[in-house]
Amino acid sequence: MSNKILITPKSFKTYKEKAYLMLRENGFEIIENTYGRTMTEEEIIECAGEGVAGIIIGVDPLPASVLEKCKDLKAISKYGVGMDNIDLNKAKELGIKVNNAVGTNNVSVGELAIGLMFALGRNIPDTVKGIREGGWGRKIGVELTDKKLGLIGAGQIGKEVAKRAAGLEMKVSIFDPYFNDEAFLEKYNIERCHDIEQLYKESDIISLHLPVTENTRGFMNKEVFGKMKNTALLINTSRGELINERDLYDALVSGEIAGAAQDVFSSEPPEAGEKLLSLENFMLTSHIGAFTNEAVEKMVVISTRNLLDMLIS
Ligand code: NAD
Repeated sequence: MSNKILITPKSFKTYKEKAYLMLRENGFEIIENTYGRTMTEEEIIECAGEGVAGIIIGVDPLPASVLEKCKDLKAISKYGVGMDNIDLNKAKELGIKVNNAVGTNNVSVGELAIGLMFALGRNIPDTVKGIREGGWGRKIGVELTDKKLGLIGAGQIGKEVAKRAAGLEMKVSIFDPYFNDEAFLEKYNIERCHDIEQLYKESDIISLHLPVTENTRGFMNKEVFGKMKNTALLINTSRGELINERDLYDALVSGEIAGAAQDVFSSEPPEAGEKLLSLENFMLTSHIGAFTNEAVEKMVVISTRNLLDMLIS
């Protein structure tokens, strides 16, 4: 019987003791990601091709071609929420169970989205960098108070952003066709927008909190940037693929929008010479949304528990 578990997320090790104990008590042997980075398809096949019953997966790729080669795989537990790196249809076809760690990192990612609004609006990283280099420069910023924040997607993370933004006295408007928590809107004095065109046109800041699907891939493109305010800021802590990055570059250079801050990118890390990184009004963090002590601890425990539930039940 296959009894090995492959664990790929780099940050898992920080809180691994409890999880390893849970897995070993249930007779499982652990294979760690020894590469110190996101694993490639070939490396995953090499580690999990035979004898591996379960994978705790980070953002590493699990397309159909990899799943087909993991002969003994019974369950995949996502360390986090977004499952766009897993071919869910193929997993279903192969009888591989899949689950994700809902409710573990929504506060951390929500706080980062708010942090990026301040960082971009007040030019904090550039100011700090300038001083380190011996300067004392200043670039004028904007307040968040009274600004209209358009949230596209209001699930676990979008709602955390909405609550915090309302606390900052921003005017929050959400666009999410599947949203059904009217009490939340009333409690935090948040507006529901049913027309995304209106949200593009009126928002001072747009923050993305929706998954990548066939319908949403690259939906923030030239056409949409053309509808936004010239002063608008774009925040993306969701997935790089939601934005057409070439169109974003053009919009930032031409001044069609004022700035963008992202925690995610279409290729992580970005290719050498990526043009967006040369722009002063573009800012990128290294997928740190869920990288806090609190979220990592929850993701380790819950993804391990989810995997055991799928393998043992
Ligand atoms: P969620 O499933 O709780 O919420 C997503 C929301 O998007 C849902 O309410 C859904 O109705 C809405 N939605 C779907 N399609 C939409 C559309 N076309 N227009 C508007 N709304 C739409 O997910 P979540 O946990 O809030 O995660 C949101 C995003 O954040 C995901 O892309 C996830 O991968 C990403 N994420 C990033 C990090 C990070 O470290 N930066 C960490 C966790 C999650």
